[in-house]
Formats: sequence, C-alpha cells, structure tokens
Amino acid sequence: MRIGIIGAGQLGQMLGFAARDLDMECRFVDPAENPPATACGKVIKSGFDDPVALVALADTCDVITYEFENVPVDALLHVEGIAPVYPPAAALRHSQDRLDEKKLFDALEIPLPGYHAVDTRADLNDAADKLGLPMVIKTRRLGYDGKGQFVAKSANDLDAAWDELGGQALIAEQWVPFDYEVSCIGVRSVGGEVAIYPLSGNVHVDGILRISRSPVDEPDLTAIASKYVHSLLEHLNYVGVLALELFVTGDKLLANEFAPRVHNSGHWSIEGSETSQFENHLRAITDLPLGSTASTGHSGMVNLIGEIPATTLSLQTGHLHDYGKTPRPGRKLGHITVVADSAEERDRLVDLIDQSVTQRI
Ligand code: AMP
Repeated sequence: MRIGIIGAGQLGQMLGFAARDLDMECRFVDPAENPPATACGKVIKSGFDDPVALVALADTCDVITYEFENVPVDALLHVEGIAPVYPPAAALRHSQDRLDEKKLFDALEIPLPGYHAVDTRADLNDAADKLGLPMVIKTRRLGYDGKGQFVAKSANDLDAAWDELGGQALIAEQWVPFDYEVSCIGVRSVGGEVAIYPLSGNVHVDGILRISRSPVDEPDLTAIASKYVHSLLEHLNYVGVLALELFVTGDKLLANEFAPRVHNSGHWSIEGSETSQFENHLRAITDLPLGSTASTGHSGMVNLIGEIPATTLSLQTGHLHDYGKTPRPGRKLGHITVVADSAEERDRLVDLIDQSVTQRI
C-alpha cells in the first residue's frame, strides 16, 4: 500500500513514521528544499497546485491525503478521478473559508461566537454595532497560527484594522472571554467507523499553540464536543482525522474552527494513546479497522517554537520530537511529550519543560 501525501512538513513526517510501522510506503509532493518528511519517502519537489506533480503522485499511489489545509481544492479535484482523495474536497473547501465554516457550524447547530462578513469599511461599523467591542477581525482565507487577525478593542481601532487587513474578504467575530480552549479530534474510516479522542486542553501564545494537555477531566464537555465532531464527520461523509477547536465558557462550548487533517493538539497521542492520530488517519483512509483512542495516561505536549534549546536534550523527562527544520522566529520546530500517571504529575512535568524551553525563547 502506497500513500500519497500533499505536503512534507512535520505532519507529513509523523504520518510517515506511523506508516512505516504499518508497513505502508509514503510519497510526498512539496516545494521546499529538504522538508521534514524527506526521511519518510520520496518527495516530488513541486508546488501543491502543480497538476503534473499531482498526477504523478496519484498515478503511483493507492490513496491521496494532505497534511495542511491550504492545498488548493482544485488540485484535489484534479486527481480524485485517478486515486481516492481523503479527507474529501468538500471538507477542505469549508475549512478554507471562515465564513463557509461558520455557516456549516450554524447548519449543524454547533454553537459558535457571533460573526459578521466584512467586505467594506462600512461593514466594520455594522459588525461592531451587531457584535459589540472588543471583536476580532480575521481574513476569511489563508490565516493560520493567529496570522491575519486584528483585535479591535474600541471604535478608534477600526481604521487601523481596515488599514491592516482591508481589501480582502474578512470576517468579524465576537470576542470570547473564554475560560480555556479545547480541541476534539475525531476520525472516520472509509467504511464509516468513527472514533473520538479524549479532549485536549490547549494554551495558545500569540495565536500559536504552546501547550496541550489530555484528557480534560470534564465528562459533560467531552460528550458535547464528541457530538459536534460526530455530526461534522457524518455530514461531510468524512474520511480521516478531523480536529475541532472550541472555546470553553462555563459549561458551554463555542466552536472556533476545524482542521481537516491531523492536528498539533493531538501530537501527544503518539506516546499517550493506544493508537496515535497519525496511525488512525492512515487506518481510516486505507479502510482498516480503527485503533483504540483510549489514553495510556495523562499526557502533556509542549511545542518548541523558534528554537530548540540545547537544554531540551538534557531533560530527564519527556519524549523529544525534532522536525529537522531551520530555526526561525515563530516557527514550530519540534515538541516534547510527557505521559504521567496523574494529572498533577503531568502538570508538574509540563511546567518544568515549559520553563526550560521558554527561558530560552
Ligand atoms: P484562530 O486562528 O481562529 O484559531 O485563532 C488563534 C487564537 O486566537 C485562538 O486559538 C484563540 O486563542 C484566539 N482567538 C481567536 N478567535 C477568538 C475570539 N473570537 N475570541 C477570543 N479569542 C480568539
């Protein structure tokens, strides 16, 4: 079985490592010089939208998947007649446009923050009237890790928001004074089998994920989030791993966004779950039975952003993943996972690692 993966970054690399254990072969398309997944299989060095490269991939692979959500939908449509493409292009289309995504949440009765489409400067005033301030203005497309976002705290900020982001399709969102953020990762196979991982509690700094902890000891929230992920998976006739990010306010959940791929907030599952998200994604798209999503302990994950300090190598605890990327400020270069017998011990270890890492950033 050969898997074609569009993108050869760290998610492709971790899919590649999981594939090796399942005796599957991987082949990638990526424009970068020496991307992280190079160690996991042949990389066709080409743009994600290059029809020649994508056809070459589809011609030589049994199934096609992708590791990031800015793959052009047309590129998927171009090859899906040659080899099956999972997750389905329709899921990718919704996730690429924040307005479409929110309309989908609405249609599925998944609660979400108030929003207003913004195409003109006047729309910003209408949004502020409707949603109140502060509000977050985001680009509808191609945003990631908090990029393409502006928090308007008062009406005086609206001109600056427009100067920074105006001229492209935008969306304004109600500001959510959340208690914390969680994500719920689910997986659905070609045959329709569904499995859901325990919730991850996520801490973002400057819009970038810094820490995940799982499970979250909130059975009611877990049940509600699982229900939302189930409805997305079924509605989209989805195949593969999907991650839904949510804000927690009291006993309520509000959906922020979903990613039609394996997700950074599920990296702990490599060591902390009976079956990692990467293995289950591969099982799902090749129509194998899904593996158990039960946790093997209390997991924590700390992202290594901008640099991998030498101190991380001498840490006496945790499992280091170095993606082999060139350091750059704000770039995810690796992560460290711990799995402990109790939530308290996990939190102690996560704090220790976080301090050792952030002192150097
Ligand atoms: P996003 O790119 O939409 O995932 O946003 C990145 C991060 O910004 C989120 O994980 C939150 O920490 C924060 N954020 C985004 N939207 C909102 C919102 N409407 N209210 C409060 N914080 C937000």
